[in-house]
Amino acid sequence: MKMRSFQVCQCGAPLQMNEREAPKPEGTQVLLKMLAAGVCHSDLHIWDGYYEIGGGKKLMLADRGIKLPLTMGHENVGEVIALGPDAKGVKVGDVRLVNPWMGCGTCKVCRRGDENLCLKPQNVGVFSQGGYATHMLTPHPRHLFDIGDLKPEQAAPLACSGVTAFSALKKVPTLQDEAVVIIGAGGVGLMGVTLAKKMGAKDIIIVDIDAAKRDAALKAGASKAIDGGAADAVAQIQAATGGGAWGAVDFVGSGATVNLAVNSLIKGGTVVVVGLYGGDVTVPTPYLPLRAMTLRGSYVGSQSDMAELLDLVKRTGMPPVPIRTRRLEDVNETLNDLRAGKIVGRVVLTPAA
Ligand SMILES: [Zn+2]
Ligand SMILES: [Zn+2]
Repeated sequence: MKMRSFQVCQCGAPLQMNEREAPKPEGTQVLLKMLAAGVCHSDLHIWDGYYEIGGGKKLMLADRGIKLPLTMGHENVGEVIALGPDAKGVKVGDVRLVNPWMGCGTCKVCRRGDENLCLKPQNVGVFSQGGYATHMLTPHPRHLFDIGDLKPEQAAPLACSGVTAFSALKKVPTLQDEAVVIIGAGGVGLMGVTLAKKMGAKDIIIVDIDAAKRDAALKAGASKAIDGGAADAVAQIQAATGGGAWGAVDFVGSGATVNLAVNSLIKGGTVVVVGLYGGDVTVPTPYLPLRAMTLRGSYVGSQSDMAELLDLVKRTGMPPVPIRTRRLEDVNETLNDLRAGKIVGRVVLTPAA
Protein backbone atom coordinates (compact mmCIF):
# COMPACT_ATOMS: atom_id res chain seq x y z
CA MET A 1 0.00 0.00 0.00
CA LYS A 2 1.48 3.32 -1.12
CA MET A 3 1.47 6.38 1.12
CA ARG A 4 1.89 9.89 -0.26
CA SER A 5 3.09 12.70 2.02
CA PHE A 6 3.61 16.40 1.37
CA GLN A 7 6.72 17.33 3.30
CA VAL A 8 8.75 20.33 4.35
CA CYS A 9 12.22 19.43 3.10
CA GLN A 10 13.67 22.93 3.43
CA CYS A 11 12.24 25.71 5.62
CA GLY A 12 9.94 28.00 3.67
CA ALA A 13 10.36 26.13 0.35
CA PRO A 14 7.33 24.47 -1.31
CA LEU A 15 6.32 21.15 0.24
CA GLN A 16 7.49 18.13 -1.74
CA MET A 17 5.43 15.07 -2.45
CA ASN A 18 7.10 11.88 -1.27
CA GLU A 19 5.76 8.41 -1.90
CA ARG A 20 6.69 5.28 0.02
CA GLU A 21 5.17 2.12 1.47
CA ALA A 22 2.66 2.83 4.23
CA PRO A 23 4.14 1.77 7.61
CA LYS A 24 2.89 -1.36 9.36
CA PRO A 25 1.69 -0.56 12.90
CA GLU A 26 3.61 -2.20 15.74
CA GLY A 27 2.90 -2.43 19.47
CA THR A 28 0.20 0.11 20.38
CA GLN A 29 0.40 1.97 17.04
CA VAL A 30 -2.65 2.63 14.89
CA LEU A 31 -2.56 3.37 11.14
CA LEU A 32 -5.16 5.79 9.82
CA LYS A 33 -6.29 6.55 6.30
CA MET A 34 -6.60 10.34 6.27
CA LEU A 35 -10.07 11.76 5.72
CA ALA A 36 -9.51 15.39 6.70
CA ALA A 37 -6.52 17.58 7.58
CA GLY A 38 -7.08 21.18 8.63
CA VAL A 39 -4.65 23.87 7.56
CA CYS A 40 -3.59 26.00 10.50
CA HIS A 41 -1.85 29.35 10.80
CA SER A 42 0.84 27.82 13.01
CA ASP A 43 1.87 25.68 10.02
CA LEU A 44 3.32 28.87 8.57
CA HIS A 45 5.69 29.19 11.56
CA ILE A 46 6.61 25.51 11.41
CA TRP A 47 7.19 25.83 7.66
CA ASP A 48 9.40 28.92 8.15
CA GLY A 49 11.22 27.22 11.01
CA TYR A 50 10.90 29.99 13.60
CA TYR A 51 8.74 32.22 15.76
CA GLU A 52 9.55 35.88 16.21
CA ILE A 53 9.87 36.62 19.89
CA GLY A 54 10.34 40.39 19.75
CA GLY A 55 13.27 42.74 19.45
CA GLY A 56 14.12 41.14 16.08
CA LYS A 57 14.92 37.84 17.83
CA LYS A 58 13.76 34.47 16.57
CA LEU A 59 12.87 31.27 18.39
CA MET A 60 14.29 28.63 16.06
CA LEU A 61 12.19 25.50 15.87
CA ALA A 62 15.23 23.41 15.00
CA ASP A 63 16.47 24.21 18.52
CA ARG A 64 13.26 22.68 19.87
CA GLY A 65 13.98 19.41 18.09
CA ILE A 66 11.97 19.73 14.90
CA LYS A 67 13.63 17.69 12.17
CA LEU A 68 13.18 17.75 8.40
CA PRO A 69 11.74 16.32 6.25
CA LEU A 70 8.51 16.89 8.14
CA THR A 71 4.91 16.19 7.15
CA MET A 72 2.92 19.03 8.73
CA GLY A 73 -0.79 18.83 9.50
CA HIS A 74 -2.01 18.54 13.09
CA GLU A 75 -5.83 18.77 12.68
CA ASN A 76 -6.56 15.27 11.58
CA VAL A 77 -9.44 12.87 11.23
CA GLY A 78 -8.82 9.45 9.78
CA GLU A 79 -10.25 5.98 9.48
CA VAL A 80 -8.53 3.16 11.32
CA ILE A 81 -7.18 0.71 8.74
CA ALA A 82 -4.62 -1.30 10.74
CA LEU A 83 -3.59 -1.77 14.38
CA GLY A 84 -0.57 -3.09 16.23
CA PRO A 85 -1.13 -6.15 18.46
CA ASP A 86 -1.28 -4.03 21.65
CA ALA A 87 -3.59 -1.27 20.36
CA LYS A 88 -6.82 -1.59 22.33
CA GLY A 89 -10.09 0.36 22.19
CA VAL A 90 -10.37 0.98 18.45
CA LYS A 91 -11.08 -1.28 15.50
CA VAL A 92 -10.70 -1.19 11.73
CA GLY A 93 -13.31 1.13 10.23
CA ASP A 94 -13.54 3.48 13.22
CA VAL A 95 -13.36 7.18 12.30
CA ARG A 96 -11.27 9.07 14.83
CA LEU A 97 -10.04 12.58 15.58
CA VAL A 98 -6.35 12.58 16.51
CA ASN A 99 -5.41 14.68 19.52
CA PRO A 100 -2.09 15.91 18.13
CA TRP A 101 -0.76 17.32 21.43
CA MET A 102 1.03 14.15 22.43
CA GLY A 103 3.52 13.78 25.22
CA CYS A 104 5.77 11.00 26.41
CA GLY A 105 3.12 9.92 28.93
CA THR A 106 5.70 9.39 31.66
CA CYS A 107 7.30 12.77 32.59
CA LYS A 108 6.15 14.83 35.62
CA VAL A 109 4.00 17.10 33.46
CA CYS A 110 2.30 14.26 31.55
CA ARG A 111 1.62 12.47 34.84
CA ARG A 112 -0.28 15.56 36.05
CA GLY A 113 -2.55 15.23 33.00
CA ASP A 114 -1.03 17.97 30.87
CA GLU A 115 0.28 15.83 28.04
CA ASN A 116 0.09 18.96 25.84
CA LEU A 117 2.80 20.54 28.01
CA CYS A 118 5.10 17.49 27.99
CA LEU A 119 8.79 18.20 28.43
CA LYS A 120 9.51 15.91 25.46
CA PRO A 121 6.58 16.70 23.15
CA GLN A 122 5.82 14.44 20.19
CA ASN A 123 3.15 16.69 18.69
CA VAL A 124 1.80 15.42 15.39
CA GLY A 125 2.76 17.54 12.38
CA VAL A 126 5.36 19.35 14.51
CA PHE A 127 7.68 16.80 16.13
CA SER A 128 6.25 13.72 14.41
CA GLN A 129 4.79 13.11 10.96
CA GLY A 130 1.36 14.72 10.46
CA GLY A 131 -1.68 14.62 8.26
CA TYR A 132 -0.75 16.26 4.95
CA ALA A 133 -0.59 12.73 3.65
CA THR A 134 -2.79 9.86 2.59
CA HIS A 135 -1.96 7.91 5.78
CA MET A 136 -0.78 8.61 9.29
CA LEU A 137 0.74 6.38 11.96
CA THR A 138 -0.29 7.26 15.52
CA PRO A 139 1.53 5.89 18.58
CA HIS A 140 -1.35 4.98 20.91
CA PRO A 141 -5.17 4.74 20.83
CA ARG A 142 -5.45 7.12 23.83
CA HIS A 143 -4.96 10.03 21.41
CA LEU A 144 -7.88 8.93 19.20
CA PHE A 145 -11.32 10.40 19.87
CA ASP A 146 -14.72 9.31 18.57
CA ILE A 147 -16.40 12.11 16.59
CA GLY A 148 -19.88 10.57 16.67
CA ASP A 149 -22.03 11.96 13.86
CA LEU A 150 -19.73 14.89 13.06
CA LYS A 151 -18.33 15.10 9.54
CA PRO A 152 -14.54 14.58 9.36
CA GLU A 153 -13.88 17.96 7.71
CA GLN A 154 -15.94 19.72 10.37
CA ALA A 155 -14.38 17.86 13.27
CA ALA A 156 -10.71 18.18 12.14
CA PRO A 157 -10.23 21.82 13.24
CA LEU A 158 -11.40 20.89 16.74
CA ALA A 159 -8.01 19.20 17.20
CA CYS A 160 -6.18 22.52 17.14
CA SER A 161 -8.21 25.69 16.79
CA GLY A 162 -11.12 24.09 18.65
CA VAL A 163 -9.28 22.76 21.68
CA THR A 164 -6.96 25.79 21.75
CA ALA A 165 -9.91 28.18 21.90
CA PHE A 166 -11.82 25.98 24.35
CA SER A 167 -8.91 25.60 26.75
CA ALA A 168 -8.13 29.36 26.66
CA LEU A 169 -11.78 30.31 27.31
CA LYS A 170 -11.90 27.85 30.23
CA LYS A 171 -9.16 30.00 31.84
CA VAL A 172 -11.46 33.07 31.99
CA PRO A 173 -13.08 32.78 35.44
CA THR A 174 -15.88 35.26 34.63
CA LEU A 175 -16.91 33.84 31.23
CA GLN A 176 -20.52 33.17 32.20
CA ASP A 177 -20.97 36.32 34.33
CA GLU A 178 -19.31 39.20 32.52
CA ALA A 179 -18.49 40.28 28.97
CA VAL A 180 -15.43 38.59 27.49
CA VAL A 181 -13.18 40.37 25.00
CA ILE A 182 -11.88 38.21 22.20
CA ILE A 183 -8.98 39.70 20.26
CA GLY A 184 -8.49 38.34 16.76
CA ALA A 185 -11.16 36.79 14.55
CA GLY A 186 -8.95 34.59 12.38
CA GLY A 187 -9.51 30.84 12.35
CA VAL A 188 -8.92 30.26 16.07
CA GLY A 189 -10.58 33.47 17.26
CA LEU A 190 -13.69 32.77 15.23
CA MET A 191 -13.82 29.30 16.71
CA GLY A 192 -13.43 31.01 20.09
CA VAL A 193 -16.48 33.20 19.50
CA THR A 194 -18.67 30.25 18.59
CA LEU A 195 -17.40 28.05 21.42
CA ALA A 196 -17.78 30.87 23.94
CA LYS A 197 -21.47 31.01 23.00
CA LYS A 198 -21.81 27.27 23.54
CA MET A 199 -19.96 27.53 26.88
CA GLY A 200 -22.54 30.04 28.07
CA ALA A 201 -20.57 33.28 27.68
CA LYS A 202 -22.67 36.21 28.84
CA ASP A 203 -21.52 38.65 26.16
CA ILE A 204 -18.76 38.55 23.55
CA ILE A 205 -16.91 41.60 22.26
CA ILE A 206 -14.69 41.00 19.26
CA VAL A 207 -11.62 43.09 18.48
CA ASP A 208 -9.92 42.82 15.10
CA ILE A 209 -8.24 45.23 12.69
CA ASP A 210 -9.93 43.59 9.68
CA ALA A 211 -13.54 44.62 8.94
CA ALA A 212 -14.38 41.36 7.11
CA LYS A 213 -13.18 39.31 10.08
CA ARG A 214 -15.15 41.51 12.50
CA ASP A 215 -18.26 40.86 10.41
CA ALA A 216 -17.64 37.10 10.45
CA ALA A 217 -17.36 37.27 14.26
CA LEU A 218 -20.59 39.25 14.59
CA LYS A 219 -22.35 36.61 12.48
CA ALA A 220 -20.83 33.91 14.72
CA GLY A 221 -22.34 35.46 17.85
CA ALA A 222 -20.28 38.43 19.04
CA SER A 223 -22.51 41.30 20.17
CA LYS A 224 -20.09 44.15 19.46
CA ALA A 225 -17.08 44.61 17.22
CA ILE A 226 -14.21 47.04 17.77
CA ASP A 227 -11.40 47.97 15.40
CA GLY A 228 -8.25 47.08 17.34
CA GLY A 229 -6.27 49.51 15.20
CA ALA A 230 -8.38 52.52 16.22
CA ALA A 231 -6.52 55.15 18.24
CA ASP A 232 -9.21 54.93 20.95
CA ALA A 233 -9.53 51.12 20.95
CA VAL A 234 -8.88 50.90 24.72
CA ALA A 235 -11.60 53.49 25.44
CA GLN A 236 -14.01 51.65 23.12
CA ILE A 237 -13.39 48.35 24.90
CA GLN A 238 -13.82 49.99 28.30
CA ALA A 239 -17.09 51.57 27.14
CA ALA A 240 -18.35 48.30 25.63
CA THR A 241 -17.58 46.38 28.84
CA GLY A 242 -18.95 49.05 31.17
CA GLY A 243 -15.63 50.10 32.70
CA GLY A 244 -13.07 47.50 31.67
CA ALA A 245 -12.89 43.81 30.78
CA TRP A 246 -12.84 41.06 33.41
CA GLY A 247 -11.54 38.69 30.83
CA ALA A 248 -9.70 39.10 27.53
CA VAL A 249 -8.48 36.27 25.36
CA ASP A 250 -5.83 37.31 22.87
CA PHE A 251 -5.85 35.03 19.84
CA VAL A 252 -3.25 37.19 18.07
CA GLY A 253 -0.47 37.47 20.63
CA SER A 254 1.43 40.43 19.18
CA GLY A 255 2.99 43.08 21.38
CA ALA A 256 0.25 45.49 20.32
CA THR A 257 -2.64 43.14 21.10
CA VAL A 258 -1.32 42.03 24.51
CA ASN A 259 -0.81 45.69 25.43
CA LEU A 260 -4.35 46.46 24.28
CA ALA A 261 -5.72 43.59 26.36
CA VAL A 262 -3.75 44.57 29.48
CA ASN A 263 -4.81 48.22 29.20
CA SER A 264 -8.47 47.28 28.70
CA LEU A 265 -8.82 45.25 31.92
CA ILE A 266 -10.82 46.21 34.97
CA LYS A 267 -9.14 45.61 38.35
CA GLY A 268 -9.01 41.88 39.04
CA GLY A 269 -9.21 41.04 35.33
CA THR A 270 -7.47 38.27 33.44
CA VAL A 271 -5.68 38.27 30.09
CA VAL A 272 -5.15 34.89 28.47
CA VAL A 273 -2.62 34.96 25.63
CA VAL A 274 -3.03 32.12 23.18
CA GLY A 275 -1.95 33.56 19.79
CA LEU A 276 1.62 33.07 18.63
CA TYR A 277 1.98 36.05 16.32
CA GLY A 278 5.09 37.13 18.21
CA GLY A 279 6.40 40.31 19.74
CA ASP A 280 7.01 41.51 23.26
CA VAL A 281 5.37 43.63 25.94
CA THR A 282 6.50 45.75 28.85
CA VAL A 283 4.05 45.56 31.72
CA PRO A 284 4.68 47.98 34.59
CA THR A 285 5.17 45.57 37.50
CA PRO A 286 2.90 47.60 39.87
CA TYR A 287 -0.03 46.76 37.55
CA LEU A 288 0.13 43.16 38.71
CA PRO A 289 -0.54 43.92 42.39
CA LEU A 290 -2.35 47.27 42.11
CA ARG A 291 -4.76 46.02 39.47
CA ALA A 292 -4.70 42.46 40.84
CA MET A 293 -4.17 41.52 37.25
CA THR A 294 -3.61 38.04 35.86
CA LEU A 295 -1.56 37.70 32.68
CA ARG A 296 -1.29 34.10 31.64
CA GLY A 297 -0.79 31.88 28.63
CA SER A 298 -2.63 28.89 27.28
CA TYR A 299 -1.18 26.32 24.90
CA VAL A 300 -3.49 24.05 22.90
CA GLY A 301 -5.35 21.69 25.25
CA SER A 302 -5.05 18.58 27.38
CA GLN A 303 -6.54 15.16 26.74
CA SER A 304 -9.39 16.01 29.12
CA ASP A 305 -9.98 19.38 27.39
CA MET A 306 -10.34 17.47 24.12
CA ALA A 307 -12.83 15.03 25.64
CA GLU A 308 -14.87 17.89 27.19
CA LEU A 309 -14.84 19.82 23.92
CA LEU A 310 -16.11 16.84 21.93
CA ASP A 311 -18.85 16.30 24.54
CA LEU A 312 -19.87 19.96 24.24
CA VAL A 313 -19.95 19.83 20.45
CA LYS A 314 -21.85 16.54 20.32
CA ARG A 315 -24.41 18.06 22.72
CA THR A 316 -24.73 21.51 21.14
CA GLY A 317 -23.69 21.03 17.51
CA MET A 318 -20.63 22.04 15.55
CA PRO A 319 -19.51 25.66 15.64
CA PRO A 320 -20.80 27.16 12.36
CA VAL A 321 -17.32 28.25 11.32
CA PRO A 322 -17.06 28.49 7.54
CA ILE A 323 -15.11 25.44 6.39
CA ARG A 324 -14.02 24.86 2.82
CA THR A 325 -12.41 21.69 1.58
CA ARG A 326 -9.57 21.45 -0.91
CA ARG A 327 -7.61 18.56 -2.35
CA LEU A 328 -4.45 17.40 -0.55
CA GLU A 329 -2.50 18.26 -3.71
CA ASP A 330 -3.46 21.93 -3.19
CA VAL A 331 -1.59 22.19 0.11
CA ASN A 332 1.10 24.60 -1.17
CA GLU A 333 -1.45 26.96 -2.71
CA THR A 334 -3.52 26.79 0.48
CA LEU A 335 -0.56 27.67 2.72
CA ASN A 336 0.28 30.60 0.43
CA ASP A 337 -3.34 31.84 0.56
CA LEU A 338 -3.27 31.57 4.34
CA ARG A 339 -0.06 33.59 4.52
CA ALA A 340 -1.58 36.22 2.22
CA GLY A 341 -4.56 36.54 4.59
CA LYS A 342 -7.00 35.36 1.92
CA ILE A 343 -8.71 32.73 4.07
CA VAL A 344 -11.70 33.49 6.32
CA GLY A 345 -12.58 30.52 8.52
CA ARG A 346 -10.80 27.25 7.80
CA VAL A 347 -9.57 25.20 4.88
CA VAL A 348 -9.52 21.44 5.36
CA LEU A 349 -7.67 19.16 2.98
CA THR A 350 -9.41 15.92 2.07
CA PRO A 351 -6.73 13.34 1.19
CA ALA A 352 -9.18 10.49 0.56
CA ALA A 353 -11.36 12.49 -1.86
ZN1 LIG B 1 -2.90 24.56 14.66
ZN1 LIG C 1 5.77 13.88 29.04
